[in-house]
Amino acid sequence: MTNTRTALVTGASRGIGAAIAIGLAERGYDVALNGIDDGTSEIEKVADSIRLMGRRAEIYLADVSDKAQVQRMVSAALNTFGHMDAVVNNAGILIAGEVDGLPESTWDAVLDVNAKGSFLVTQAFLPSMKTRGYGRIVNIASIGGKHGAPEQAHYSASKAAVMGFSRVLAQEVGKQGITVNCVCPGIIMTEMGRVNLEDAAVRGAWQDKTAIGRIGNPDDVVGAVAFFASDESAFVTGQTLNVDGGIVFS
Ligand code: NAP
Repeated sequence: MTNTRTALVTGASRGIGAAIAIGLAERGYDVALNGIDDGTSEIEKVADSIRLMGRRAEIYLADVSDKAQVQRMVSAALNTFGHMDAVVNNAGILIAGEVDGLPESTWDAVLDVNAKGSFLVTQAFLPSMKTRGYGRIVNIASIGGKHGAPEQAHYSASKAAVMGFSRVLAQEVGKQGITVNCVCPGIIMTEMGRVNLEDAAVRGAWQDKTAIGRIGNPDDVVGAVAFFASDESAFVTGQTLNVDGGIVFS
């Protein structure tokens, strides 16, 4: 194994994914950044800030729910970086809506990105990780996958799927040196988090629900991800860790 640690982070253009990518770079990783081409330069700014640290950053635009695009991204990243120590499946979408009246297309879109996306990216990296006998898969689920809130049944289902997938995959690949764990953020101030935070009363209610007494920032999620991405967690697999300031106690 080479000394340079490498990680691919999906959905790294902003929010939690950008914080994870920068946080891993600060811990010495070269980072492959994934986003979907939305016509902004946000992901370029993340790459620039990593390069300023003297670490390598490369951008791979791909829709994680599209198998062909994922395969192209993974083989390009492996060609460039040589190996991938850690994969952080962070890309996700949330489209609110009550079950009664939820369009089938909304169910499919959310499940495709959040659940199938994690499967496709992970599956594409498994052969190279198995060959090396080393890998760290970190899946960003959500406390919403354990409890959930009204208008997010499909989102909750997608995140519960990610946790179930991770628990079983951990059993399949553990003997090949690969660990698979989930981080479940709580209410985090990002573009997505705003769905829960726009209304001041709702925001205050969420804040009051936390034992720590505040809404989270993207940086709050980084430490748990870095732990699961590192050798410090070598004997931990198939687990889910809530990073929510104390909302869910399980
Ligand atoms: P965000 O600010 O909306 O960022 C989402 C990221 O995912 C963006 O980088 C976006 O890329 C990317 N993305 C979306 N669809 C994609 C696709 N099909 N292929 C590749 N990339 C795609 O969200 P966030 O709050 O940081 O959320 C990050 C993760 O944490 C998600 O899995 C989310 O479910 C989870 N989470 C968030 C919270 C919260 O309160 N914020 C709580 C629990 C869990 P573009 O910029 O290129 O569109």
